[in-house]
Amino acid sequence: MALRIFNTLSRSLQEFVPLDPAGKQVGLYCCGPTVYDFAHIGNFRTFVFADLVRRYLEFKGYAVRHVMNITDVDDKIIGRVREQKVPLPQYTGQYETAFFEDFQALGCQPPHLTPHATEHIADMIDLIGKLMERGVAYRMADGSVYFSIEKYQQKGGCYGQLVKLNFDEMRVGERVRSDEYAKESAADFALWKARVPEDGEVAWPSPWGEGRPGWHIECSAMSMKLLGPSFDLHLGGEDLVFPHHEDEIAQSEGSGVQGPDRRFVKYWMHGAHLLVEGKKMSKSLGNFFTVRDLLAKGYPGRAIRFLLLTCHYRESFNFTLDGLAGARSTLSRLDECLSKLREIAGNTAAEADGKLIQDFSAALDDDLNISAAWAVVFEWVRETNRRLAEQSLTPAAAAAWVAAWQRLDSVLGVGAVSSAGAPPAEILARLEARQAARQTKDFKQADAIRGELRAKGWLIEDTAKGPRLKRM
Ligand code: AMP
Ligand code: ZN
Repeated sequence: MALRIFNTLSRSLQEFVPLDPAGKQVGLYCCGPTVYDFAHIGNFRTFVFADLVRRYLEFKGYAVRHVMNITDVDDKIIGRVREQKVPLPQYTGQYETAFFEDFQALGCQPPHLTPHATEHIADMIDLIGKLMERGVAYRMADGSVYFSIEKYQQKGGCYGQLVKLNFDEMRVGERVRSDEYAKESAADFALWKARVPEDGEVAWPSPWGEGRPGWHIECSAMSMKLLGPSFDLHLGGEDLVFPHHEDEIAQSEGSGVQGPDRRFVKYWMHGAHLLVEGKKMSKSLGNFFTVRDLLAKGYPGRAIRFLLLTCHYRESFNFTLDGLAGARSTLSRLDECLSKLREIAGNTAAEADGKLIQDFSAALDDDLNISAAWAVVFEWVRETNRRLAEQSLTPAAAAAWVAAWQRLDSVLGVGAVSSAGAPPAEILARLEARQAARQTKDFKQADAIRGELRAKGWLIEDTAKGPRLKRM
């Protein structure tokens, strides 16, 4: 069956047909984190959604090139660098490292390319130069460069493709310097921001004078550089639709590099926001969680991933700690079922069960209907448990189900216990380190390792025969 997805550009469900004439290669760009602080679980809902899109395309046989940028210079970062008086790379480096630790804890596949904005300043200058040459950008006396919506429209460009805009209310030539603004204040936006004293040391030379890029031009320049002027999929959270993605279209198509009948991006997909305990996340409400907060509370990364993946990406989702505890027990049920299946299957080799894969894939072909896909999985768990109870499963049938689950998990990524529950080598090494700590009576260290393993989803049970690891 063909995959259908909701394209924000057409505001409709469309069959996914890649630009590649051979129908094989897919270019996917997802706006990455702004590394000015720890990313929160809302941010990660979007990254887990992008991971699902990528994994499902691969499951369907596409060769995906996944690019996720790192925004390591923007208004917010400069504000923080100024407050904390540290060099920009030092400031952003710590949050980038933390971001990738969390990303890995949630089982997200590393993107093929993770370009940093600060490493692509020359590409941004080049793109702004093209916009100047085509007369859709202009330089101000202070050395800043703005995108002219009016000139772009005069040249046949359409501003307001992802959102409807009321141009009667817009005053021609009005400018906005800030990277983030509401639809009501749509105006010519900054491509290059001339250096001001508040920028401190953060500035690069350019044909228009020293300064730094606007946020929107960063993604246009990096995506086109790495995926070509026209590519298949562009993803992000719903808050990025305007102005960020609208401005990306204007800059990229305004540079005229696509050629006739070609768009900058064929399909735009946006994930709905995450609410926490029914409210928008905020530090003052005490409902602001990072992935590391949740790991420290003992919830395994895969339970967080599972919970973030339970709801359709276009529906807002309410994250609760109770829901997370529920996710953890649901995964234990899945693990238990798989562990029994593996025991019965033994070393029997079998082809994956086709029906299970087909039902799962039919659900995801429908605009990545993940809740329907999980319903297929849990119906199968119920059926398996029934067959296990009546002891009617042959090794061949069990092996076919285990093989099918492995295919499903290549998309879901919740990594249910591998080979009869055997913990991976690095977990075993930590268990040994804990034993060594206990032998030298370093109980503080032993407890710390127990906590560390718990955060990774492994419980240590001390038995008469020595310690045993159990998947949580
Ligand atoms: P940022 O680091 O602020 O640029 O955001 C990174 C990604 O997280 C973007 O795609 C945002 O749209 C997304 N995002 C921000 N807040 C939320 C939220 N509460 N729920 C889901 N995605 C979010
Ligand atoms: Zn972006």
